[in-house]
Amino acid sequence: MEQEKPFNPVSSRINWDEYFMLQAIMASFRSKDPNTKVGCVFVDDNNHQLSMGYNGQIAGIDETKTPWSNDKTLPLQQQKYAYVVHSEANAILHAKSDLSHSKCYVTLFPCHECAKMIATVRVKEIIYLSDKYSDSIENRISKQIFDMTGIKYRGLNLRREIFTDLSNYFSSVISE
Ligand SMILES: [Zn+2]
Repeated sequence: MEQEKPFNPVSSRINWDEYFMLQAIMASFRSKDPNTKVGCVFVDDNNHQLSMGYNGQIAGIDETKTPWSNDKTLPLQQQKYAYVVHSEANAILHAKSDLSHSKCYVTLFPCHECAKMIATVRVKEIIYLSDKYSDSIENRISKQIFDMTGIKYRGLNLRREIFTDLSNYFSSVISE
């Protein structure tokens, strides 16, 4: 009797968390900030992308007249903090659809200003890559806001194999 041949089980090389975090990383590559490049992607329950953003100067502003300095001893008008819109704020401002109950993949844990907006549009979960400012008061306020509004947050570790896969891919498509 002929043995039935089942299809081989197949799987994607990256899972959804990894896929969207890589998209958030690519968004961050668009940032012109010389010190901190942040990207994010908002996703619905069906793993469809709703919006994306990266940190940048105010849209339409003459960027030759605005600073990128992060030196907080300078007058505020000479600091980037006066003019830069964060990645999460950009994604929320430019979203074409409702972001409530969405997930936010972001390369850096949100600051308290973005946390306010994220909570206000009723995002349900934050997935972040880095939390390097976890000791800051702004960061603690963000977590307090998320805890008070029932927003879940978790860090994501990208597997080493992904970088090997990507590296092999680039080697195969990029000519010398
Ligand atoms: Zn922010």
